[in-house]
Amino acid sequence: MGLLPYIGAMRKPNLLGQSEKQLQELMKSLGQNSFHGGQLFKWLYKIREEDFNMMTDLSLNLRKQLDSDYTVEQLKESQTAISTDGTIKYAFTLEDGLPIETVLIPVHDSEKAALCVSSQAGCALACKFCATGTMGLKRDLTVGEIIGQLMRVRDLKGENAFSNVVFMGMGEPLNNFDNMVETLKIITAHNGFNMAGRRVTVSTSGISPKIKKLADAGLKCRLAVSLHAATQEKREKIMPVAQTFKLDKLMEAIKYYGVQTGERVTLEYILFDGFNDSMEDVKALGALVRGIPCMINILAYNPVDGLDFNRPTDEKVDWFGRKLLPHVPAVTVRKSRGQDIDAACGQLAAKQILGR
Ligand code: SF4
Repeated sequence: MGLLPYIGAMRKPNLLGQSEKQLQELMKSLGQNSFHGGQLFKWLYKIREEDFNMMTDLSLNLRKQLDSDYTVEQLKESQTAISTDGTIKYAFTLEDGLPIETVLIPVHDSEKAALCVSSQAGCALACKFCATGTMGLKRDLTVGEIIGQLMRVRDLKGENAFSNVVFMGMGEPLNNFDNMVETLKIITAHNGFNMAGRRVTVSTSGISPKIKKLADAGLKCRLAVSLHAATQEKREKIMPVAQTFKLDKLMEAIKYYGVQTGERVTLEYILFDGFNDSMEDVKALGALVRGIPCMINILAYNPVDGLDFNRPTDEKVDWFGRKLLPHVPAVTVRKSRGQDIDAACGQLAAKQILGR
């Protein structure tokens, strides 16, 4: 089997984040039937049992061996902030001391809630409007650290804590592709979280080749693309990644994703006061998405201290949405959430995802 993550020096390997296949391999390496790997998978992710001794369908000897040589260690939250609108932001400190954030976003008058998870500690893409972008990339998260966010929030808030998962927290999920896909498999596995793929949204800044790769992965998850500007020139001004992945190729990849998966792609469009909120922008956006089955989410910017962008007025946001409506297949205009706890990395558009 592959290398297991160790919790610090000289400590037992942590099984959290291991795939069913890896656990089957582990069983074989211990001289056991690989079938027990499936049982262990279910204990870890569906039942969420951390104590090997409680895994009663495994033999006593196997339980003892697992207990002596391995561990199941959950993430530990270092801070929790609750917004007046019910949004909860959890800060976790990883084993190497790096901080990450996970945000639980409830929808009022509904049973639904989205969990916005991080895929990297920091981010290399340096979008000009984003607090995370100012940190640079520290490292990719492991599968255990990504799935661990879901597990810890369920431990804290119960089995029905969230109905949807959105990869919209810190980092560019498609730049941690393999770990993100492995996590998705655990989320959608019958003996994992057993969530339908359409309840999971991967949000990307627009890494076109990896959008196509995700389309071909057969996962049936939803895709959201942070567009934020409708011309190459304007997009480059706020998202350096656009210099590498040009807008025409991005739109081609978005079309491809829709055709391959049958899913309508969501295009996120954060409105920045005086930058991308004019009638000219409405027309450019309408022209860009013509013929592409998509949903456009308009979201007012949540200002970040020290960054040079402002939030447009609510009237301006409504005006933009109304003007855009005749030019695009579908549009939603929502207020962003958790402003009083800074629950935004420029991508916290999760509530829109729930509206579909
Ligand atoms: S908006 Fe997303 S992709 Fe851009 S810098 Fe922030 S975390 Fe990275």
